[in-house]
Amino acid sequence: MLIFGFFSHQIAKQMYIDMEMEFAEEVTYEKTVLITREYKDNPSLEHIKEHVGNPKNKDDGDVFLLLNEKNNIIHPETISSRPDISSWISYIKNSPIYLNHVQQQKINNQTYIWSINPIEGTPYKLAYVCADADNEVYNSTITLATRMLAAGMVILWVASWISLILSSAISQRLNKQRNELEYQATHDQLTGLGNRALLQSTVDNIIKTTNNNKKLLLMLMDLDHFKVINDTLGHKIGDLLLQQLAERLKEHFTDAEVVARLGGDEFAFAFFITNNYQAMQLINKVLSIVDMPIAIEGFSLEAKGSIGAAIAPEHGETAITLTRHADIAMYQAKESGGGFGIYDPEKDPHSLDHLTLMTDLRHAIENNQLELFYQPKINMTTGRTIGVEALCRWHHPEQGMIPPDIFITIAEQIGMIKPITLWVLYVGLNQCKQWHRAGIPLTISINLSTNLLQDSQLPARISDALRNENLPPEYLTLEITETAVMNDPARAMEILKQLSALGVQLSLDDFGTGYTSLAYLKHMPTNEIKIDKSFVMDMLNDSDDATIVLSIIQLAHSMKHKIVAEGVENEEVWDALTTLGCDIAQGFYMAKPMPADKLEKWLKESRWGLGDDIQEKLA
Ligand code: C2E
Ligand code: MG
Ligand code: MG
Repeated sequence: MLIFGFFSHQIAKQMYIDMEMEFAEEVTYEKTVLITREYKDNPSLEHIKEHVGNPKNKDDGDVFLLLNEKNNIIHPETISSRPDISSWISYIKNSPIYLNHVQQQKINNQTYIWSINPIEGTPYKLAYVCADADNEVYNSTITLATRMLAAGMVILWVASWISLILSSAISQRLNKQRNELEYQATHDQLTGLGNRALLQSTVDNIIKTTNNNKKLLLMLMDLDHFKVINDTLGHKIGDLLLQQLAERLKEHFTDAEVVARLGGDEFAFAFFITNNYQAMQLINKVLSIVDMPIAIEGFSLEAKGSIGAAIAPEHGETAITLTRHADIAMYQAKESGGGFGIYDPEKDPHSLDHLTLMTDLRHAIENNQLELFYQPKINMTTGRTIGVEALCRWHHPEQGMIPPDIFITIAEQIGMIKPITLWVLYVGLNQCKQWHRAGIPLTISINLSTNLLQDSQLPARISDALRNENLPPEYLTLEITETAVMNDPARAMEILKQLSALGVQLSLDDFGTGYTSLAYLKHMPTNEIKIDKSFVMDMLNDSDDATIVLSIIQLAHSMKHKIVAEGVENEEVWDALTTLGCDIAQGFYMAKPMPADKLEKWLKESRWGLGDDIQEKLA
């Protein structure tokens, strides 16, 4: 404000001095013109003096003076008595006079503004002197500066208000946008219920913040036969059913901590409970409310649900563990004919004692507990098997068959993955060679685990194994997952190049689940892309999955890669994939993974088996 005041004062001062000087010039000129006109009519000097006039009083700052040719003041005679003008008079006597010129002069610390004009046709000059310029300017500028300051303050005030209003409008808008984004990120678009993210964050928060007396019940519910409704009545009716059901759930379970749709026909609920009896009551309430018929476009539909439940803290203390356990309970309930199930650790195949498994896995190879199963890969143009994927099985003496997803992870943790992979490689190549000898020219795909892709000895080992069996390298396909490559892309790329140089085929497994950079993908020496089964299995129910499958097929083809779809579980998916131009299919619809002897039988008997030409040769 001070700076603004100072500058407005300076500006106002300059403006007033300019105006004062302009005034002096004008007033002198006009008076001279008047006197000249008078003089031309021959008036006396007295007349002229009358025109020039007398200062009205001593303090009047503006004075007209009549000067003779020697610059002596001849009128008014008494002027020298005016102290304010006297400095100027003595100054002018000793200085040259600029005619027709307005001047501003500081004499003895006082500012004088004067203007002198000759009176035409006479020896006289008319001088106008303003000795009080400082005072006048000071007063006027203070007034102007005050006004400017006031105006400035008003403008500042108005501007502050405007900016305040604007910024609050902008922040309101940003808040609205943020809320909308947050809503979208935490809610299901179709039903408006919460989504998986909301379920997880709510459950985790509740577990972290509630006291020990309270329990949290997490329920997962899957609709039975929803696929049939979708397939027979169409997706529109399916969507309407989900929406109406969601409305009904919202209405009846206002006391739930969260009601969410996790995708497809899967819903989730979280409730506070104080005892397990209450859990049973709530589960039954959900089942009976879902059971009530729903009327949609003239159809009366019945949506039955199967529920799996887990209770915190006894079954887990994070949303992820609780969801996994509720999921296990739900599938067990479904397998035993629907209804509901509450998680029972005793029945959980995944809660095996990991420590025991770790110890046992170290001896699995020497104890002959590993076995290779083979799952056929079918050429979608001929409909015949062209190769197999070798999938490892572990027969645990006490625990029975342990799924590879579990023991491969353990093998990676305890450094057993390399010996297991080499075992799979030797056994698989040996088996493949036996088939070739028998006239069955299948290719064999082998899965390489993540950390093996960083092992620089791997290419030499594979080359040795191929040489050992005397098998042409193009019959071996190595499947690597996207994540394996992206862990250390530069190093993985180096090893992939060495493997490719051996002449083996490289396949990118479980494609779509990781984050492969397209930049790397372009330079990877891969020959084949396998779309992850999670997209394929549901592609007819989920339009997002169908779009992903189509995009991956197009991407693979544009890079001249073969495309394999895994997880083909029925004819409809097979037909859809054929239409989309997929090259190779693998899945339970054609065949599940099986031991070598069973596969040989299957190859001869199945319509997906060997081509007629090979069959003829074999015969
Ligand atoms: P993967 O390499 O993606 O293998 C395909 C998996 O999908 C196999 O599961 C197979 O049985 C399953 N599958 C095939 N068609 C269908 C279908 O139509 N529906 C369904 N639901 N599943 C289908 P599997 O044998 O349980 O193997 C699971 C994973 O374990 C494999 O996934 C692979 O990553 C790993 N694995 C298996 N054997 C080995 C191995 O020898 N070495 C390594 N490193 N990993 C292995
Ligand atoms: Mg695989
Ligand atoms: Mg796969």
